[in-house]
Amino acid sequence: MTETRVALVTGGNRGIGLEIVRQLSRLGVIALLGARDVEKGHAAVALLASEGLEVPVLALDSNDPDSPARAAETIQSMFGRCDILVNNAAVLIDGPGGFDSSLFDLTTETMRQTFETNIIGPARVIQAIVPMMRKTGYGRIVNLSSGAGQLSAMGKGFPAYRMSKSALNALTKITANEMVDTNIKCNAVCPGWVKTDMGGANADRDVEIGAETPVWLATLPDNGPTGGFFRDKAPIAW
Ligand code: NAP
Repeated sequence: MTETRVALVTGGNRGIGLEIVRQLSRLGVIALLGARDVEKGHAAVALLASEGLEVPVLALDSNDPDSPARAAETIQSMFGRCDILVNNAAVLIDGPGGFDSSLFDLTTETMRQTFETNIIGPARVIQAIVPMMRKTGYGRIVNLSSGAGQLSAMGKGFPAYRMSKSALNALTKITANEMVDTNIKCNAVCPGWVKTDMGGANADRDVEIGAETPVWLATLPDNGPTGGFFRDKAPIAW
């Protein structure tokens, strides 16, 4: 990259989001670490500082309707641009039963909370950030989706999470199609099964691997793809 890019990563204080911030920072990107709890954000930033990475914290709660617009205003006043958006923040709160949780035990409240964080939040952040991308004529949007949201391989278990990720895939295509004549790209990614609080200790991937394809999509060249769904830097079925 020839110029310093500015990125926003939601849910950047732990898990895959924190690793995406780390990897982008190592590439020389100014990667703002979005956190709904700013204290947790500062703790994560202190960890990165101990590794020699200087990272700003930005308050961003996906469930607060006004938070994305406030975050965008702060980025505009601090940097005048936002080149990369990684919609990473999400919850997996289906239950009881985890992988076996049934649609018939799913409460309206769980559905509402899951959709608020996993799809309405990312849509609001896109609405808030894209106007800055339009001004510079450059943007890379990466939505952290999941194989659990693939319609072509839809199973059962954690139904609210699955539905929210299918909807995030739809948001990805709609966003990409609205930007098709621009250099603003929007792609979805499945990071694989990753060892985090969400993925659990038995997952088969470390965060370093889980963050690799999101970072690749966040730094795509101008002739890179848009409107796709990827795992391990290769397209996968919707
Ligand atoms: P995680 O360890 O549970 O971390 C989730 C992050 O999202 C945390 O930073 C959390 O902040 C944040 N968050 C939750 N609700 C939020 C809200 N309302 N506003 C702002 N931030 C919020 O999850 P992960 O495993 O790193 O997953 C990252 C992404 O990858 C998610 O989109 C997930 O669906 C996707 N994914 C993960 C796996 C996997 O195996 N781990 C597989 C497929 C897809 P707090 O610390 O404040 O709670």
